Amino acid sequence: MRYETVIGLEVHLQLATKTKAFCGCSTKFGQRPNSQVCPVCLGFPGSLPSLNEEAFRFAIKVALALNCRIQAIVKFDRKNYYYPDLPKNFQISQYDMPLSYNGFVDIAVDGANKRIRVKRVHMEEDAGKLMHPEGEDYSLVDYNRGGMPLLEIVTEPDMSSPREAYDYLTKLKAILEYLKVSDCDMEKGSLRCDANVSIRPEGETKLGTKVELKNMNSFKGVRNALEYEVKRQDSVLEDGGKLVQETRLWDADKGITTSMRTKEEAEDYRYFPEPDLVPFVVEKEEIERIRKTLPELPEAKAARFKAAFGLSDYDAGVLTSQVDLADYFEECVKLYPNAKTVANWLMGDVMATVNEKNIDMSELALAPAAFTGLLKMIDSKAISGKMAKEVLAEAIETRIAPEEIVQKKGLSQISDAGAIESVVQGVLKKEAKTVSDYKSGKKAAFAFLVGQVMKETKGKANPAVVNEILKKSLGE
Ligand SMILES: [Zn+2]
Repeated sequence: MRYETVIGLEVHLQLATKTKAFCGCSTKFGQRPNSQVCPVCLGFPGSLPSLNEEAFRFAIKVALALNCRIQAIVKFDRKNYYYPDLPKNFQISQYDMPLSYNGFVDIAVDGANKRIRVKRVHMEEDAGKLMHPEGEDYSLVDYNRGGMPLLEIVTEPDMSSPREAYDYLTKLKAILEYLKVSDCDMEKGSLRCDANVSIRPEGETKLGTKVELKNMNSFKGVRNALEYEVKRQDSVLEDGGKLVQETRLWDADKGITTSMRTKEEAEDYRYFPEPDLVPFVVEKEEIERIRKTLPELPEAKAARFKAAFGLSDYDAGVLTSQVDLADYFEECVKLYPNAKTVANWLMGDVMATVNEKNIDMSELALAPAAFTGLLKMIDSKAISGKMAKEVLAEAIETRIAPEEIVQKKGLSQISDAGAIESVVQGVLKKEAKTVSDYKSGKKAAFAFLVGQVMKETKGKANPAVVNEILKKSLGE
């Protein structure tokens, strides 16, 4: 039997507001445990929540960018459960009337467009954080995170492979970064992803038994966990076993998933309308006003880059995949309009350095003016491509301008025909035997002569100019 994979994703995004979702506590990361709490987020009796307007506007922005419809009435619900990280014993969330629904994100699959439907984007608050010190018989809880504003972004089960799930997440993150509503930092937990995965016989329309995967700390982790889980489910069915609906945890070190609990149902949470937050109407004018504040998003930017700078689909896609990178590219093109050179060097050596150092573009110690200064020297043949690579690495390391490095090291390439001509003549005189070999048909001798000229100039002669002058001198 051949099986097909069905994947749906749930992303939790922490919004980068200054204060929490329903109280005035600070959202600053990494502060002393339980220093950013108040009666509202600690759930003291008699305290009343009030909605953070900035969080609400960020949520609408995300919903619009994901092509969602906005619900006319905004209503919050209580999701009831007891857990030590949740002092109120309920979480304020949205149940039957999510803020927005019916959106989509397009990804490229084998060169074609595939639409991943976004089922809903709703607002909720985060819980606190439990810590279990190793070897101790107690646990600790930090409520600083309790009440932080979150968005839950849920897709339909539209992805058919772990790779598609990875591509969707990458695209989603790019959009969210463009919107500047979250730092999208998975390590800090600002962006978290759970996955629902099931398999079914090829051609079957009914969904198979769904397993929810948790505890993935990177997009790669999501992909690895899904790949493992698809194989596991496949072998359970192949062995004649039965899958159970459950939540499983990804263990990145061991590369396996383990059962955490059998799945709870929505009715277990006894959702009911949050009585302390009155439902309210979102005016159409307000939505349109927020829509006008949306930035140019990755797809629109890629289309513009292609039209304005003559970039290929691939180059435009890479350059717009991160907002910092796209901004950097545009800064460079303003200073030096040879877009192809800018794109090639940016996507090649610069990106390689950024990835190697594991930093963001914004942390790169290479101003667009310094970078384009280097590109000008390459295009004018003042330095060779090989020298440029060395200069670039040094400029990033030392923060010294590329022009200055070239000058100080005497690196500039000799493109002056007169200077090269005299070296060529000297070489031809010295290598008379090789010259006659060449003239009698031994074509390989030419490369040797080029090599001798390069040696005389310590590698600084422009190879193209050397080739041209040598050919002329040999009577070609
Ligand atoms: Zn608070």
